[in-house]
Amino acid sequence: MSDKLLVIGEARDGVLRNVTFEAIAAAKKINSDGDIVGVLCGNDDLNAQAQEMIYYGADRVVTVHHDELKTYTSEGYGQAILPVIDDESLDGIIMGHTAIGKDLTPKLASKLESGLISDATEIEVEGDKAVFIRPIYSGKAFEKKTISSGLTFATIRPNNIPALERDESRSGDVSSKEVDIANIRTVIKEVIRKASEGVDLSEANVIIAGGRGVKSEEGFKPLYELADVLGGAVGASRGACDAEYCDYALQIGQTGKVVTPDLYIAVGISGAIQHLAGMSNSKVIVAINKDPEANIFNVADYGIVGDLFDVVPTLIEEVKKL
Ligand code: FAD
Repeated sequence: MSDKLLVIGEARDGVLRNVTFEAIAAAKKINSDGDIVGVLCGNDDLNAQAQEMIYYGADRVVTVHHDELKTYTSEGYGQAILPVIDDESLDGIIMGHTAIGKDLTPKLASKLESGLISDATEIEVEGDKAVFIRPIYSGKAFEKKTISSGLTFATIRPNNIPALERDESRSGDVSSKEVDIANIRTVIKEVIRKASEGVDLSEANVIIAGGRGVKSEEGFKPLYELADVLGGAVGASRGACDAEYCDYALQIGQTGKVVTPDLYIAVGISGAIQHLAGMSNSKVIVAINKDPEANIFNVADYGIVGDLFDVVPTLIEEVKKL
């Protein structure tokens, strides 16, 4: 295929999120012949980020600077990116299925009366069509989707399509686009970041998730220690969040975050369908639960039947020895 595709880059605190590189890899999968254009918005110098997009496979990058792009708003980013789309005569636009991706892409797609396929976990090329595979029914089944005509918008779930190797020998053009951004009705007064310190939950390769079985905020401490020694992040079931053992920012599941780490350790989590919806695509699932009948064992690759207050400290000790 030789489609021309735009990848919308996303950064946090000046650093591109890994899903941006995964989106470039997704675009490359659709269009192995080249012409992958990246776009970046912000109010600062975006050249270093643009260069990173090129190292990860973009052929060239358009940057849009404006004071109104300091913080994300769908109005600001919409007004910045629509003129870039106009310039490029594209076949498709790909972005991460992140909070911003979920907000921005439907807005752009509806403005352009285009189709949007969201939360794709895999892409296949059939003939001259890109086919996006996405989970449905809370991850119990997968559907294949393609858009038969016009511009295709797609968001990809983080941690599913591996990024290409970073290659500093790659080069590409970085150009700047002047845009008018006006009549922004959203005023961001302050950004208050919730709990999650350290590794970002939605992009973590290892997640230690605690449930109601952890019994208290204090009970979460060994989970943080295990996450620390494994270089991972801590997540939680809604049961644990409802019981105020941790912040809702950690909630994984149908009404929380959807994660696909390499390793998911569920600690004192029963495995309700709404929790499985957020984690069942994890590559390796380990469940620690004292109830051998707990539903979480039905999706686990490895199960430890036992008291988490004995098992987790033993795990920490053993991992430390490695
Ligand atoms: P429980 O079901 O109470 O399980 C606790 C587990 O800990 C048990 O299996 C028990 O055997 C084990 N345990 C207890 N003590 C120990 C010990 N000492 N050692 C080892 N194991 C122990 N839930 C989510 O997680 N995410 C969501 O996004 C979500 N969205 C929802 C949306 C809707 C519309 C609804 C209705 C529900 C939603 N839920 C969600 C809630 C979900 O149905 C469950 O209630 C919740 O996941 C249960 O959390 P839990 O497994 O931690 O608690």
